[in-house]
Amino acid sequence: MIEISEAKIIVEEINMHLKGLTILGVDINHYPHKFAWFSFDQKTYEAKLIHQKITGASQSGNFIRIHIENGNEIALSEDLVFSYVKEEHGSDKHQIKLYTDHGTVLEVKTKLYAFMLCGTKDELKEKSIYYKRAVSVIDPLSNDFSFEYFKEATEMDFSKGSLKDGLATKQHIPGLGNGTLLEILFDAKLSPKKKMSSLTPDEQLRLYQSTQKIISKIKEAQGRNQSFDLFGQPGRYEVLMSSKRDHCPSCHKPLIKENYLGGKIIYCPNCQKG
Ligand SMILES: [Zn+2]
Repeated sequence: MIEISEAKIIVEEINMHLKGLTILGVDINHYPHKFAWFSFDQKTYEAKLIHQKITGASQSGNFIRIHIENGNEIALSEDLVFSYVKEEHGSDKHQIKLYTDHGTVLEVKTKLYAFMLCGTKDELKEKSIYYKRAVSVIDPLSNDFSFEYFKEATEMDFSKGSLKDGLATKQHIPGLGNGTLLEILFDAKLSPKKKMSSLTPDEQLRLYQSTQKIISKIKEAQGRNQSFDLFGQPGRYEVLMSSKRDHCPSCHKPLIKENYLGGKIIYCPNCQKG
């Protein structure tokens, strides 16, 4: 799953390697996937993209946005696998593929589910509530992401839900998915099931600081060691709350792993306060 830090890395790589290239062809849903969502049909993608230059890329939440000179963009998010290779090394199993004038192809595959949208910003805001939310929020690594904003975005002062509910559901902080959440909560020494309303002011601040710290740390390490960049290279951030780990990396007591609010939570009942 591409989460916020990994989206930032892919964007940097697209800016480094694809910016300025012209798109010569596009294929969508070549290897059909039930849960790959598109905003238009093949012909419309072609009309919007072919013979157009890539002017750069940006990230909004977990959306990777590839900007095109005519005002359209390709907006990609969720469970994606990227590959940027010479055309002769391309594959057939992609759900979107861009052919460039440098003889290279950008292929993106869907694992569980993904958005592979194309359109102008206004069109995409109409087509996808996830995109609309992602482009309207303040990024956690921006200077404008204040403690006050964090409390407001997570509904901290009036939420009846748990920390997982507040931070990683309902697009409160787009791109902050289950994987990043578990690392943040381990760092903040708080349980995913702890009620938002039970946080002391100190704990609220700790949660805010851990959110920025972990997102930044994963980004600096070029992603988590379970995620891959444009060239298939894994990140260097060692995931602490990994399903492969049975014991807490800090106190060595057994970790708890359970399904909770649509995803597995992993936490240490000793280090993380409930
Ligand atoms: Zn522990």
